[in-house]
Amino acid sequence: MLDKRKFYIAGKWVEPATQNDLLVLNPATEKPIAVISLGTAVDVDRAVAAAKKAFASYSRTSVEERLALLEKLLAIYKRRYDEMADTITAELGAPRTMSHEQQADVGVGHLQGFIDALKRLKLREKLPNGDTLLREPIGVCGLITPWNWPVNQIALKVVPALATGCTCVLKPSEFTPLNAMLYAEMIEEAGFPAGVFNLVNGDGIHAGAALSKHKDIDMMSFTGSTRAGIAVSKDAADTVKRVTLELGGKSPNIVFADADIEERVTASILECFNNSGQSCDAPTRMLVERSAYDEVVEIARRVGMEARVGDPTKVGSHIGPLVSHIQFERVQALIEAGVAEGATLAGGPGKPEGFETGYFVQPTIFADVDNSMRIAREEVFGPVLSIIPFDTEEEAIAIANDTNYGLAAYVQTRDRERAERVASRLRAGMVHINGGPHRYGSPFGGYKQSGNGREGGMFGLEDFLEVKTVHLPDAA
Ligand code: NAD
Repeated sequence: MLDKRKFYIAGKWVEPATQNDLLVLNPATEKPIAVISLGTAVDVDRAVAAAKKAFASYSRTSVEERLALLEKLLAIYKRRYDEMADTITAELGAPRTMSHEQQADVGVGHLQGFIDALKRLKLREKLPNGDTLLREPIGVCGLITPWNWPVNQIALKVVPALATGCTCVLKPSEFTPLNAMLYAEMIEEAGFPAGVFNLVNGDGIHAGAALSKHKDIDMMSFTGSTRAGIAVSKDAADTVKRVTLELGGKSPNIVFADADIEERVTASILECFNNSGQSCDAPTRMLVERSAYDEVVEIARRVGMEARVGDPTKVGSHIGPLVSHIQFERVQALIEAGVAEGATLAGGPGKPEGFETGYFVQPTIFADVDNSMRIAREEVFGPVLSIIPFDTEEEAIAIANDTNYGLAAYVQTRDRERAERVASRLRAGMVHINGGPHRYGSPFGGYKQSGNGREGGMFGLEDFLEVKTVHLPDAA
């Protein structure tokens, strides 16, 4: 078992202020793989003090200096890529192929996207009225990340902070701290000055809240549940910090009868089940035009029941376990709620045969779902799809928008004009048409209770910048 009790503060790996151990479990075996420390407000204070001290000089470094450091980080990340993928397999349970092709890959893609954006960023510009506008790093940033796409979220927060000249304290999810500690080693090796990046492990109510409340933190960037995002916002309110939030989702996937049904429905189910259904932007509510409904339900059941769970250390396209016992229990409760509310089921509660150890769940397809049911309103965060029929385009848009969330939406139709017309009316931050992917460098984020920031590329840099107007007497 790895001893990972130390935190990274002021350029050194240091002991926590008080000993408070937490075991990191492998979700496929339920066995401990490492021990970490849960930090307290004292550890957070030390890390924030280091970040505040480093800000004085790091905020004045040139874009060229920061680009050189980021390029170095990219080279190191590429060299240690397999280590990152294997770490995510061990602590999250993401299957080996998925970890290598998706989970670790985002660390390269986002870093490259930010490097490209930083090269284009205008830190000084003349406004049409003659005034001068400056963009400056906002200050010391508190970064809190979840476990489901762990290095994705770290890259989307740490990299723009470092790129813009901010300094930061990262508190990763206590369920997946090891990839974050590996990332810290890479930052150390890249040669970022001491205190620019700091890492404190811990849980939300202690270390997380201490960051949100800290008077010397200028901005909180949070990704996680809407519940915790609200807590961070309230904790940050007394010190009037900027707070950016990337929260949950319940994304609609509108399937019109004129879509390439077999291909689009199959791809949609695989996307819903990807990462064991633990993706904030997963297409979890499939809205289907009535004339294609029976055909879609049949394909969904077939493809859904063909999905296999399996050992995450093995190569292949199977689904791994959920991250934790808590998530397993949550998903089971929601599947049972779907059954109780009368939706038609394929799959269901309980563990798949032969997987008694590990937090494995059965891929599940619910048909005849009504948008008022819990399985249509709450984020399940497991391989569970809800299918809902509709009669008209207008009704599809109304059901799609009838949710507290607004992260992603999906439209399947061969009619391009209709696709764009519908996309323009969906209250969501990202709309995917016929499988169009999210490309690195484009803003990622949501409407409504899915959050309020945009991560990645130029928009992601802007979140970490203050704007200053300089008024000169001779404006011309
Ligand atoms: P979570 O909210 O329980 O935890 C996320 C992080 O917040 C963890 O580091 C946790 O320790 C911390 N935290 C918890 N309570 C806190 C508090 N009161 N104050 C400060 N920090 C606190 O969420 P999770 O279970 O780790 O992640 C799953 C959730 O994240 C899902 O809802 C998912 O949709 C969301 N998510 C959103 C995006 C996005 O970009 N929109 C991306 C990935 C995940």
